Amino acid sequence: MPFSILAFATFRVANMLDFNSHDLSEHLSALVDTAMEREAAMLPPRAYLGASSLGDDCARRLQFQYFDTPKDIGRHFPGRVLRVFARGHRVEDWMADWLRLAGFDLRARNDQGEQHGFAAAQGRVRGHADGVIVAGPDSFRYPMLWENKAVGAKTFRELRKKRLAASRPVYATQVALYQAYLGLYEHPALFTAICTDDMSIYAERVTFDRGMAQRASDRAVEILRACDAAELLPRISTTPTHHTCRFCPWQDRCWSLPH
Ligand code: SF4
Repeated sequence: MPFSILAFATFRVANMLDFNSHDLSEHLSALVDTAMEREAAMLPPRAYLGASSLGDDCARRLQFQYFDTPKDIGRHFPGRVLRVFARGHRVEDWMADWLRLAGFDLRARNDQGEQHGFAAAQGRVRGHADGVIVAGPDSFRYPMLWENKAVGAKTFRELRKKRLAASRPVYATQVALYQAYLGLYEHPALFTAICTDDMSIYAERVTFDRGMAQRASDRAVEILRACDAAELLPRISTTPTHHTCRFCPWQDRCWSLPH
């Protein structure tokens, strides 16, 4: 049977559509990426040490963060990663809604309508918690801090296997600091994580770790002291190929310095 004009046209259109849709995806992604990256670049600098990063392995990296030091060329968050962050915020809102649906009285904001947070060291150390749960099912004690993360399958598996403090010490430090500074240390905090691959829920009661909070607080004081004295704190490693350095947005800048 001869190849009909109609079949030929259908074949051509199908292939054009394939080509066009690939092309269009790239084109549209580029437009969205550019807009998101432009928006991110316009955010005001964060002139404080955040509780969410005080558990970071490298004190020097925290200094770069504190000074809002420009990242190395090509090390800014691309649009795709910014969308991953945006997804985390939405997932947090959903989790708050689901906890309320399950009977928890979760307050994401205080009586003044502000996010629960703290400021110490003249505002140079700050943190903003996801929420405080003041009542709910009898199996928990209130009030308790609530902190949530949206995580990939690998982190989710590690949380289940090793629990929060051993698998994600940066998150654990963040929780300990919020408990300390918000006065929510009497009862264990509720840490939840949502697996973004299949939306499974991980939950852990986190008993206040006073030592961890104190160490993080002392570290913040030391970092601020060094920043005030224009003193660069030691690198975390002796080689730029160390796994922490390889993913550091200041890798080139850091290793171009004399010490
Ligand atoms: S490159 Fe390495 S040592 Fe330097 S700031 Fe980054 S993580 Fe720290």
